[in-house]
Amino acid sequence: MIKEFVALAALSGAVGCASMATPRQATLAGLADSTVIHDDIAYLASDRLEGRLTGTPGNDSAAAYLARRYATLGLRPTSPGYLQKFSAHSAADAHVGIMTGKPTQNVVAILPGTDSRLSNEYIVIGAHFDHLGRDSQFALDPEAKDAIRKGADDNASGTAAVLQLARMFKRARPRRSVIFVNFSGEEEGLLGSEWFVDHAPVPLDSIVAMINFDMVGRLRDNKLLVYGTATATELSALLDSANVHGAVPFKISGSGDGFGASDQSSFYGRGIPVLHFFTDNHEDYHRATDDVQKINSGGEARVVDLAYRVVESIDHLGSRPTFNRSTAASPMRTSASSGSQVYLGTIPDMAAGDTPGLKLTGVRPASPAETGGLMAGDVIIEFGGVKVTDLQSYSDALYAHKPGDTVKVGIVRAGKPMQISVTLAKRGG
Ligand SMILES: [Zn+2]
Repeated sequence: MIKEFVALAALSGAVGCASMATPRQATLAGLADSTVIHDDIAYLASDRLEGRLTGTPGNDSAAAYLARRYATLGLRPTSPGYLQKFSAHSAADAHVGIMTGKPTQNVVAILPGTDSRLSNEYIVIGAHFDHLGRDSQFALDPEAKDAIRKGADDNASGTAAVLQLARMFKRARPRRSVIFVNFSGEEEGLLGSEWFVDHAPVPLDSIVAMINFDMVGRLRDNKLLVYGTATATELSALLDSANVHGAVPFKISGSGDGFGASDQSSFYGRGIPVLHFFTDNHEDYHRATDDVQKINSGGEARVVDLAYRVVESIDHLGSRPTFNRSTAASPMRTSASSGSQVYLGTIPDMAAGDTPGLKLTGVRPASPAETGGLMAGDVIIEFGGVKVTDLQSYSDALYAHKPGDTVKVGIVRAGKPMQISVTLAKRGG
């Protein structure tokens, strides 16, 4: 996930119908292979790729690997090659006076649809494949210095999910065309997906939905987050239906919003319905400890199977999903937060979904949050006199302060409103 989320994570300490066709009988094509998922993640998160930082040889090797996989699967490139080259120039680089971008590439493959009319419509299935490499700038473990941040869950897991779906849909022969894309430059601010929508290989208005996978390798307690369900009228019912058709339905939460901390935002911003699958935040997020040993590949295979059924249901719709703009809260703001060095040490509960305020799953040991008395289960409703309704308003309120500020925090603990004082520290300090 992106650095804005990382920045927020750093300061918070850890992170973050009627027209529906009947689903087709489950086919063999609709079963993900957990062994292949594991092996793909193991390779992408191996030391030899050095964490796939945008603009490094490890990132380029990962792209070459993905291109070979698509070629082996028999999927076509959308241009003379599978690589969509671009120059990644992040706001962070610009901020420190670096004026040139880093050469990098998205990887794009296409599976033509079988229906003569509907094949002119496209479903995009995507995930970013870049990560932080040895760069500690956006890592949450600056003490690990230049250790490789391997990004097994973030986002070798999503990359492996896209490869699985490419294999599965190649056999299933969907009616609409499907574009599989692996984005680079995500961690530096959704650069690859922004480039993709600005230079799409097909007309943007022919893309009927975008399905994103970012961090899907850590399924725990059968809990799955899906964001973007309100971005098209049909999506919520369609997801529920796909879920109950699984052998063991997931406990799904999340929110309807199409803007979030990953590549789906680039598509939603262009009027395309989106879904983002996510198996939730964890202690290894953006740390050198995010490695393949901690991946639940069997769980990920189940997430992929669910996503497969969802895409299949979208493909079975007679007409494209009905886009909803009304859910749009606001895109992730970048200007307000970039450059902020504030650290508090709260760990937001990303599963709390649409509940008002910001619920905490915990606080970092020895953090200002812990020192100030914040605890797991607390719901932050006010920060420095500013009302907190969600993660975004919390981050805005937090970023308005600087290290050393003492701030009054209004919380609800076990149903009772309370007030606590915290003294903000400096990130990485
Ligand atoms: Zn990330």
